[in-house]
Amino acid sequence: MTRVLLLATTTGYQTRTFGEAAERLGVELVFATDRCHLIDDPWRDAAIPIRFYDETASVEAILSAARERPIDGIVAVGDRPTVIAARVANALGLPWHTADGAAIARNKLRTRERLRDAGLPVPWFQPFDLGPNVTASVTDVTTSVPFPCVLKPVALSGSRGVMRADDRASLAAAVERLRALMRSPDIRAERNDAHDDALVEGFIPGREYAIEAVLHHGAMHPLAIFAKPDPLDGPFFEETIYVTPPELTRDAETAIVDAVARAAAAIGLYHGPIHAECRINDSGVFVLEVAARPIGGLCARALRFENTPDPFLSLEEIQLRHALGETPEAWQREACAAGVMMIPIPRRGVFKRVDGVDAASEVAHVDEVVITAKTDQLLVPLPEGASYLGFIFARADSARGVESALRDAHARLHFTIDAEFAVRASV
Ligand code: ADP
Repeated sequence: MTRVLLLATTTGYQTRTFGEAAERLGVELVFATDRCHLIDDPWRDAAIPIRFYDETASVEAILSAARERPIDGIVAVGDRPTVIAARVANALGLPWHTADGAAIARNKLRTRERLRDAGLPVPWFQPFDLGPNVTASVTDVTTSVPFPCVLKPVALSGSRGVMRADDRASLAAAVERLRALMRSPDIRAERNDAHDDALVEGFIPGREYAIEAVLHHGAMHPLAIFAKPDPLDGPFFEETIYVTPPELTRDAETAIVDAVARAAAAIGLYHGPIHAECRINDSGVFVLEVAARPIGGLCARALRFENTPDPFLSLEEIQLRHALGETPEAWQREACAAGVMMIPIPRRGVFKRVDGVDAASEVAHVDEVVITAKTDQLLVPLPEGASYLGFIFARADSARGVESALRDAHARLHFTIDAEFAVRASV
């Protein structure tokens, strides 16, 4: 039987969607998931237990399992396992991104250096050490950089820790806030040395777009360009609406696709999914990053691909087919406009309930409203947070129709969020 290795954290929506797609294709999925090898198959899914932070041991564990159950293709979910995926693919002779390229794509500083060296537009940038042995004081940085600027950790994603500063005082405050965030338990548990590094760079004004694509032996096949209609000007950069197709001229679309293709090549990405973010202004297309993975979480549901005579292919099904050697030429996104709203967390607090889901679902053109927040979950907004309240999906004839459906549906949702009380033990 044909087997595809899926590298993922133990939980996640995308893992389940890959499972469904594999079933449709008649492909066996072999999971390699981030967990403790001392526990004997706790999830009873015969997954290969790996630790994302120990890449060499993880690669060895997968290669040894692959000797028993040979692997025909690889897919990875999220940023963290992309280098392991590349090293395994390279060892097995499967086409994939280079391991070096996957590592550079995960590091915002190394990405900037590669793009600059390739002559692509980049803002000014300066590394900044957040670690315990900091030699340069905050004052050195705040007095030497122009404003406005953006401070960001080099190895987090989802805009976590990304902050705009307009003057010395706000940059100094942002540095302290980022230091505190990087000390949080979930980030320390990743045991990633790159979490000691931050980057300060010039704020790039302009409109922002996201590009979903597949690289096939170095050639880029764009799957979708998403516009982000809400302005992303800071001080924090919460993603909300993604809508495709964007209202852009053919020339502007070509410029985006070319810039992302050049950036991916400069980073060393070669074969497999990519998800890129860029900002456009009068000076050109500034590629912010190119990740060696597909769009994250549930957002992939906004994308469907023509599959006559059957209804549609999911993005996950496309990834599986590509991993097994299919070429991307025929993959065409459906004809209508589509979009997703990542429902932002309005304030810190304890999630109690949501009302209006039925009313929101009834808005014309809304496909689905999915609330992912759990009762009593502590909601943490950006820049510290790493989640959304949920997702709204819509499809319509035009991108504007999608956008207004998403906004109407969102306006019908009412979230009850209680204040967070410190619980004190009585003495
Ligand atoms: P992440 O990988 O966490 O998403 P990014 O570097 O892509 O980190 O930054 C997240 C968001 O912050 C971007 O989508 C953009 O809106 C904003 N941003 C990041 N860097 C800049 C910059 N130099 N100028 C303007 N906006 C920026």
